Amino acid sequence: MAEKAFLVDTSKCQGCRGCQVACKQWNGLPGEKTEFFAGPEYTNPGKLSAITWNHVIFFPIDRSNETRPIWTIMHKKCFHCAEANCMAVCPEKAIYKKDGWTVIDQDKCIGCGACVHACVYNVPEIAEKHHTNDAGQHIIVKDRSHKCNACTQNEREIPACVTVCPSGALLYDYRNKMIDYAQKRVKELKADGYPNASIYGLDQYGGLGVITVLRDKPEKYDLPVNPPKVDHVKAEHTKDVYALLSTATMGIPALKRFAYRASKSLTKDA
Ligand code: SF4
Ligand code: SF4
Ligand code: SF4
Repeated sequence: MAEKAFLVDTSKCQGCRGCQVACKQWNGLPGEKTEFFAGPEYTNPGKLSAITWNHVIFFPIDRSNETRPIWTIMHKKCFHCAEANCMAVCPEKAIYKKDGWTVIDQDKCIGCGACVHACVYNVPEIAEKHHTNDAGQHIIVKDRSHKCNACTQNEREIPACVTVCPSGALLYDYRNKMIDYAQKRVKELKADGYPNASIYGLDQYGGLGVITVLRDKPEKYDLPVNPPKVDHVKAEHTKDVYALLSTATMGIPALKRFAYRASKSLTKDA
């Protein structure tokens, strides 16, 4: 686990999307073509993607009071799980820990999608490359997996998304300090009329690198309290079969992806 942690205080987020833009700018990520109502309510673009590594989600979690619905504005990125499902299943060991943060080595990734399926938070996504072949057909090729790397790649002391947050909804400091702060905020929220205010990320997957303060229970935000872990025995078995099959792929990513799919189907009952 990283020594430091992010704190996301959803009760303070104003939805300005400064974090989303700062991440794109710092990491040289392009904008996305979107529709106005691309996701729930005012969420745009609709979800995290290979080129959007943090994402501001807008939705009401409680409409029981029509004149005063409780809105949620969530800043979502990789939670940097201490025991990361994505890392456990990656057949190429492309996912590793750097100072406790979960990072993808782009030189090793083959775009097999194992991490995408293993992450219960739907964080990583495989980029697509678009080509036109000699016959003029539009071809889409799967490329590599991408997600937030906690600003460890294009390194900086304070992550870009945190530095721009104008409302104090995003903080970054030693994990124990962030937990103390989250506990204080939950007390304040309870006193302010939110009896179910809670903290997410203390225990899930051995502790998350992102501690989130919520006005209600995690379930209201689609955050699982007891998220499932991957079956490590099965994952290791699949990786062993893959290690054998991939020796015949001459390092070609498309063949490696095929070898991974074959390994998965051969070990599905392992
Ligand atoms: S949130 Fe998903 S992508 Fe991030 S470390 Fe956890 S399992 Fe991996
Ligand atoms: S796409 Fe496959 S090879 Fe690439 S990081 Fe994910 S699991 Fe590893
Ligand atoms: S920590 Fe860095 S890479 Fe991750 S979402 Fe924030 S700006 Fe983007």
